[in-house]
Order: sequence, then C-alpha cells, then structure tokens
Amino acid sequence: MSQHPPIDILVSEVGPRDGLQSIDPIMSLAAKCAWIDAEFAAGVREIEVGSFVPAKLLPQLADTAAIVAHARSHAGLTVAVLVPNAKGAAAAIAAGAHKLTLPLSASETHSLKNLRRTQAQVLDEVRDIAAMVKALPPGERPHFEGSVSTAFGCTLEGVVTTAKVVELAEALMAAGVDEVGLSDTTGYANPAQVRDLVRAVHAAIGATHLTGLHLHNTRGLGLANVMAGLDVGITTFDSSLGGLGGCPFAPGASGNIVTEDLVFMLEAMGLDTGIDLERLLAVRDILRGALPTEPLYGFTPDAGLPLGFMPRVQPPR
Ligand code: ZN
Repeated sequence: MSQHPPIDILVSEVGPRDGLQSIDPIMSLAAKCAWIDAEFAAGVREIEVGSFVPAKLLPQLADTAAIVAHARSHAGLTVAVLVPNAKGAAAAIAAGAHKLTLPLSASETHSLKNLRRTQAQVLDEVRDIAAMVKALPPGERPHFEGSVSTAFGCTLEGVVTTAKVVELAEALMAAGVDEVGLSDTTGYANPAQVRDLVRAVHAAIGATHLTGLHLHNTRGLGLANVMAGLDVGITTFDSSLGGLGGCPFAPGASGNIVTEDLVFMLEAMGLDTGIDLERLLAVRDILRGALPTEPLYGFTPDAGLPLGFMPRVQPPR
C-alpha cells in the first residue's frame, strides 16, 4: 500500500474507469498513461485506473493491466481498480493493483442486470476475494472495498431503503471486505439522504469502515451531496476530470462530480487535498486532445480561479 502525505480530504479520480466506460471512443493506452501521469504530477494520490471486466463487455478498458503496471511506477499513488468478481480480482492482484473495489448493488434487479448475479452470489465472490487477499503476504495485500451501488435509489426498482443498505454493508463486512463505500450510481441522492444513510451505516459497522462516497451529478446535487458527506465525517470523494462521460439521461449534466470543481470547493473552504488546482486544470488538454468529440464539464475551468484565490500550501513532494 502506498503512503499518503497528510491531507484533509482524499479526492479519488475515477475518470479513467467510470468516465471512459461511459463513452464510445476508446482512448489510447498512451493517452490514458499521460492523463494519469499528469494528475499524479498535479498531486492526485488515488486514481481508479480501470476495471477487470471481460474486454468484450467494455473494450474501452481492455488495457487495464498495462495501465496498472504503468501507474505503479508513481510512488505515493494508490492504484485502484474495479473488479466485478473473483476472476477479475485475481487478474487485478496479478497486475499489482493497490486497491480493489467490488460493487454490490442494493437493488437485486440492478445486480442481475449489471453483474448478472444475485446479491447472494456477489457476496460469495466477496468471500472468495477476501480469502485470496488474506493468502498474500501482509505487505502485498491490496485494500479491498465493497461498494454498495444504487445505494440512494435505482432506475429499475426506484426507492432503496436504508435498512437494505445497512444489511448489505453488514454483509460485506462479514464477508471480509476492509471497508464499505456508498455509490450514488443513478444520481438520485440528496443531501439529507446522504447524511441519514451515512449515519445509519456508521452506526451499524463503525465510522472507520465507511469513509468514502461515489457521487454523480445527474441532477446537479453532486457538490451539495459532498457537503452533506463532509458533515458526517466522510473523507474520500470519487470524481472525474471534466465530468467525463456525461449523463445519458440528463443532457448538459456531468456524469461523476467534476474533479476540478470538487477540488476548488474543498481548497476554497481551507480543506487540503494536496492537489495543485492550476496544474489539474491543465490536465484537461490531454482529454481534449485524445477525445475531441467528448464534451468536458465543470464550472471552475470555464470561469477560472477567483482573484486572490489562495489554495492551501502544498506539502512538499
Ligand atoms: Zn459511477
């Protein structure tokens, strides 16, 4: 596991996975590596670089093993990947990923459609992966997160109850994950719901076992939901540079929350992210060059930094 210098809030860039899997063009391996290199140079300390799913399902992410190998060259960067099952986890471990995230849908219908497995079957995979991780020498074990997806509502089933999310969070912990995350896969979350659900899961599994949220900006509430997460002690937020991927249901809305806007908000509030915002904004040029037909989102990049904006002093690196 790589070491993070002390920061207040960890911004986890998920664009190379969540953004790229949502668009048709396939980014070249060289461009993906350049993107990751530039974000690391700007101070980003955790990047979800891809997903170990069959290439025929997501050809956009077929080169994930090569990207993991490249990203591992950056000392201090946590190289995270998504894994749908034990087979994907084995490939991720072989490639040397530092962090594995396995999604477990709070909606059984979504689980069957997305992973083609029931929730009980996904939990079996979690147990297999946990055993695989424990069999490794202590220094070589990746961090294993179970992420409850559609935790705030599902496009197929509608309302997801707090009781269901709590039940699955407890089941994930019992199956051997290190940590549980909550994902607003569908962009249904509102700030009051974020506070309530995080509190309920904290009460069930302990605050140290839920520290991260994965939020989308489908209805424009992404940063409001981040504020709610901060209120209840969340310290890691997933986001995507340029909000890459957009939202097919809401034209004009970014997909994930926009990394640039998230970092601006946090730094303006005096919360240290370790990220140099000007250098981060410049990384957009790589996306623009590699994906000329994809719209990039974000208010801060368009408006520029306010006169007199003072980010927190960057730690030496
Ligand atoms: Zn997502």
